[in-house]
Amino acid sequence: MKTRKIITIYGIVQGVGFRPYVHKGVQKYQLTGWICNSEQGIEMEVEGERSNVNGFIKKIKKNAPILSMIEKVLVQEMPVFGYTDFKIKKSKTREENPLALIPPDISICDDCLSELLDPADRRYRYPFINCTNCGPRFTIIKEIPYDREKTTMSNFSMCGKCNSEYIDINNRRYHAQPNACHDCGPQVSLYLKGKKIEVKEPVIEVQKRLAEGQIGIIKGLGGFHITCDAANLTAVSRLREIKKRDKKPLAVMAENIDLIKKICHLSAKAKKILTSKEKPIVLLKKKKKYYLSPEIASDNSYLGVMLPYTPLHAILLKDSNLIIVMTSANFSDEPIIIKNNEALDQLSDKVDFMLLHNRSIYNRCDDSVIKDSFSSPIMIRRARGYAPFPIMLNKKVSQILAVGPEEKNTVCFTRDCYAFPTQHLGDLKNQENFVAYQEAIDRFIQVFRFKPKIIACDLHPDYLSTSYAEMLSRKENLILCRVQHHHAHIASCMAENHLTEKVIGVSFDGTGLGDDGKIWGGEFLIANYYDYKRVGHLKYQAMPGGEQVIHYPWRMAFSYIYSNYGSKISNLDIGFIKQRKRKEINLLEQMLIKNINSPSTSSCGRLFDAVSALIGLKEEVSFEGQAAIQLESICQSALDDNYSFRIEKELNKWIINTEEMFRQIVFDLKNNVPKSTIATKFHNTVAEFTTSMCKIIREKTLINEVVLSGGVFQNSYLLEQTIKKLKNNMFNIFIHKAMPPNDACISLGQAMVANAKENNF
Ligand code: ZN
Ligand code: ZN
Ligand code: FE
Repeated sequence: MKTRKIITIYGIVQGVGFRPYVHKGVQKYQLTGWICNSEQGIEMEVEGERSNVNGFIKKIKKNAPILSMIEKVLVQEMPVFGYTDFKIKKSKTREENPLALIPPDISICDDCLSELLDPADRRYRYPFINCTNCGPRFTIIKEIPYDREKTTMSNFSMCGKCNSEYIDINNRRYHAQPNACHDCGPQVSLYLKGKKIEVKEPVIEVQKRLAEGQIGIIKGLGGFHITCDAANLTAVSRLREIKKRDKKPLAVMAENIDLIKKICHLSAKAKKILTSKEKPIVLLKKKKKYYLSPEIASDNSYLGVMLPYTPLHAILLKDSNLIIVMTSANFSDEPIIIKNNEALDQLSDKVDFMLLHNRSIYNRCDDSVIKDSFSSPIMIRRARGYAPFPIMLNKKVSQILAVGPEEKNTVCFTRDCYAFPTQHLGDLKNQENFVAYQEAIDRFIQVFRFKPKIIACDLHPDYLSTSYAEMLSRKENLILCRVQHHHAHIASCMAENHLTEKVIGVSFDGTGLGDDGKIWGGEFLIANYYDYKRVGHLKYQAMPGGEQVIHYPWRMAFSYIYSNYGSKISNLDIGFIKQRKRKEINLLEQMLIKNINSPSTSSCGRLFDAVSALIGLKEEVSFEGQAAIQLESICQSALDDNYSFRIEKELNKWIINTEEMFRQIVFDLKNNVPKSTIATKFHNTVAEFTTSMCKIIREKTLINEVVLSGGVFQNSYLLEQTIKKLKNNMFNIFIHKAMPPNDACISLGQAMVANAKENNF
């Protein structure tokens, strides 16, 4: 019996190899009909024997191409039409500019890995082996459609053997654009002190050198890494010296899970992420017996680990038992190096070796970072393996370019039912990063052929991203939409969760300019995409020294304590005050009394800094969040106690007053209560006042949906406690999924707000 069915597939199915995939299935089941791209995904009609049609439909979802993401499949039965063949029809979208997706880079697959390690295979130890399911993508693509000539593989022409794989629909390298082998593809070479050295197998040679304690540079997929044996104390210290900067934790790479288990606790969930096709850096809790250099992630209970994700890494670590540092080769907050000559010029005389290759990197892309957490994994940095994969929205949106904030920047483009956040672009504080930022935007626009009508930016007039948006809006005649930072946080999380109605938005972070000109960061909003109302916040607190306090958490601690004790502060019998120089105390007292360079903030990040400094963990830091990370690292999940706080009504807002908490912390310090107890009670207090506020807001508004966003929620202990307390009070809680809660999510939120306001322009 013959039948005909219309199949509509919703999701990310365009530009991911779906049509050849369907073509194979149609051949197998002897079906006729047609397929075409539609606005929401793919539409097709298939006709054939009923059992065949049903068999085909059953398989669609199961064996779908690795990069596709099917949201739902609708099937509709129709009378038989009598198709004689199977056609790929023109796209149904009326736009002259149909959407094409660009796949992210995918780590080496199991099939390629076993060929790589098989001495009988023609690609044995070939560092650039790949197939239709794995290999470089985004980092080598210059333009769409995604064909080899439009990638940095265009310099290499396929040999006969590679080409026959490429054109054979039944080969697993069918249309694998970067397909290559020893004979025709890119090659690695070893450099010592800037000079190329002839060795038979450079990667094997590098493994030996790492084991001997050498430091080197390795060119990767989206940038260069600096590397050394992570267990070698001297090597790690030397590497720290070369990187020169801060105490930022370094990531490590190990050949397999067993090695990782020796140094970290590994949950089943974390293992799944570690071994996923994206293979990000996963932040895992360190074990007590931990034999790596303590300099890798000091004052941090987490360690960033990853598995080899390119064939080159796999050869490098094979049977070595090494755990190596793999951190981006760049200088303090500058963009990751992507060109051979840059690496040679800047780093040759600083390291012992360089392992380079001749496949160029077009799009710069850092390693992604995900934190293992009790409730659900937290995305910390979204880049390799994820970008430029879109986020599916629940409605069609305009073409908008949102330029993001200043720190942890990403840019976001929207069109159709998708939002495309760029890879992590970093902090826009120096010229090098700003240049790389503009280049990344240009390349994104070019690669995706975006034609935005609206450009969205932060309220802050001094951000480089804001001035870039102003410039572009003048030059290209685009509508400019300024979006408040914390509103963007909430809109972003709403978009990821497909929320449309008003929510209670809890936005906790370090800094964001408020609509009253003050620095916000501990905010309770009632928000939808279109608008927000600030219904509550942490009590304003003076920041003696302004932005500088970010580097000197002790100043923030002083400010909070001074609010409680005034001039009696010098008599306090706690370490924090006793070890202060008289001069320091006088200076800060004067600043606070006379209100010199001491703007007010409601920042939750600064509250964490203050407590960290007050209990003697971190008085000064080299990067924002460092003090809070250390505070989190000493929390004990078994302790269920908290400090007091007050929620006060001020005009039409609810204000959280933490004065009593600080008095109680001082009391605990005087009584030598362990730091870990104080830290835990503090975290519990934040979760408690958040819940109390949400309850007050719910009483007034009947809104039961709570959206959590902001960098403070990278703190997994706080996140868990907050979710627990909110759940106990029957709230519906929403957190970020694909995007980080930090400022990387801002661009998505800016785009969503601008889209909602479009009709007003
Ligand atoms: Zn493969
Ligand atoms: Zn070849
Ligand atoms: Fe923020």
